[in-house]
Amino acid sequence: MFLTSKLFAKHHITGIFSERQGGISPAPFDSLNLGFGLGDSDKNIQHNLKQLCTAAHIPTPHRSEQVHGTEYLLCNGEGMQHCNQADMLITCTAGCSVAVRTADCLPILLIDPQSGIAAAVHAGWRGTAKNIAHIAIQHMKELGANPEYILACLGPAIAAPCFEVDVDTGDKLSLSHPQAHLHIHYKHHKAWVDIRAINILQLQSSGLPSSNIESIELCTSCLSERFFSYRRDGMQSGRQLAIVALPMSL
Ligand SMILES: [Zn+2]
Repeated sequence: MFLTSKLFAKHHITGIFSERQGGISPAPFDSLNLGFGLGDSDKNIQHNLKQLCTAAHIPTPHRSEQVHGTEYLLCNGEGMQHCNQADMLITCTAGCSVAVRTADCLPILLIDPQSGIAAAVHAGWRGTAKNIAHIAIQHMKELGANPEYILACLGPAIAAPCFEVDVDTGDKLSLSHPQAHLHIHYKHHKAWVDIRAINILQLQSSGLPSSNIESIELCTSCLSERFFSYRRDGMQSGRQLAIVALPMSL
């Protein structure tokens, strides 16, 4: 039903990435769909979300309307779906959880266990080109986090061999970090990009030690039994959730 961050678990933090099995949604959203407004019934999705949170022992997460931007939403109180457009959700409140929805884009979970600040970040190619991982770390710093203590876990996402984009997109991504070009390969007027590797560079340049970065290297497009993939299934694709929960006490 979901993958767990081993790095976060060492620090007694729950960080999870849902898979597609274990829910009640019918095809093509079978079965643990967590994306509203795609054609699946709200009732199914509510049920799936409740099942997931119960299984992971976490409260209902805060969610936003994701628009491939770099705005953030500061969350507290009871978890809910917000109308706000934001691609990073941050919380400083004990007992709160925050989530982002993906189907190929890279979900990044962040937590500073020392200061009790957590974030969920939606990094697609647009967010990655805008340096969203770096922006998220800056916001966490403003709230009192220390990048040296921040732990990051990057979840399942589309891998480079499956992620073909146009040359213009490749060029935009190569400007996002001095070493980003090392992870973009051009061939036959197309580009293949490793957004995971580029986000790791952005996190390292923001002050995170490499040992604080965990990466779950699974391709959502290749693993059709385990993950929803927008590239693979188009409009008929469900959505995964990546969730990080701040414990009641650290
Ligand atoms: Zn793949």
